[in-house]
Amino acid sequence: IVTIANVSKFFGPLKALNNVSLAIEPGTVQCIIGPSGSGKSTLLRCINQLEKIDQGAIRVDGELIGYRRVGDELHELTDPEVARQRLVTGMVFQRFNLFNHMTALQNIIEGPLTVLKRPRKEIVAEAMALLERVGLAEKRDSYPSELSGGQQQRIAIARALAMKPKLMLFDEPTSALDPELVGEVLNVMRDLAASGMTMIVVTHELGFAREVAGDVVFMDKGELVEQGPPQTVLVAPKQARTRDFIAAVL
Ligand code: ATP
Ligand code: MG
Repeated sequence: IVTIANVSKFFGPLKALNNVSLAIEPGTVQCIIGPSGSGKSTLLRCINQLEKIDQGAIRVDGELIGYRRVGDELHELTDPEVARQRLVTGMVFQRFNLFNHMTALQNIIEGPLTVLKRPRKEIVAEAMALLERVGLAEKRDSYPSELSGGQQQRIAIARALAMKPKLMLFDEPTSALDPELVGEVLNVMRDLAASGMTMIVVTHELGFAREVAGDVVFMDKGELVEQGPPQTVLVAPKQARTRDFIAAVL
């Protein structure tokens, strides 16, 4: 569902992504690990068009992202076209990013109400089902300030799912949580993976990656250093840089 081909991204002189290629099959979980500053967030942000790539091409769900080919030339898409493409992808961030002046339920229905233009009743019913799914039906009328970090992150996942994305991106979704709250969020992600959602997950939770990932990549300095099944990359990595990183995280 996602094809990343020779993608590079510069921030001034800094090469945040250096010729990255990666393909993600539908219904699989791709985990991305790597040290701080290695380009993990930048890669997700390029897939979701929060950043523009400088070289290469990204396809999501069969469509070239951000550009249209006209003869031999690439033309940038207009803002509404980009907005339409971005609906295919849901994203969950390290910080919970909920709307603080809205209840849990309002946070979940806000996007569908404004974008999907469907009857409110249907949208609310779906939102309630999502609240059930993340185990927070009883918190529908709570504001983010009344929820724990783990609960807020589960609402953030429900909010992303409410847009019916085909692909979910997670950028270190548990790294801002107290340790005792990490498990409840990982459980929701595990269920989501089991339901067949295609997911790209940046995480330092190597146990989760071992258990859920179909494929793991290790990034360093904007490069994809090593890729393979979790049993290889996380347990018996071939590259010294991967070994050093895993030893430092464990
Ligand atoms: P972390 O584990 O700390 O989240 P990361 O792997 O997600 O790190 P990125 O956030 O993708 O790393 O950053 C990759 C590099 O690009 C870093 O050197 C970072 O400082 C730089 N960078 C990221 N965003 C910007 C920006 N908007 N402007 C300039 N430099 C940026
Ligand atoms: Mg990051």
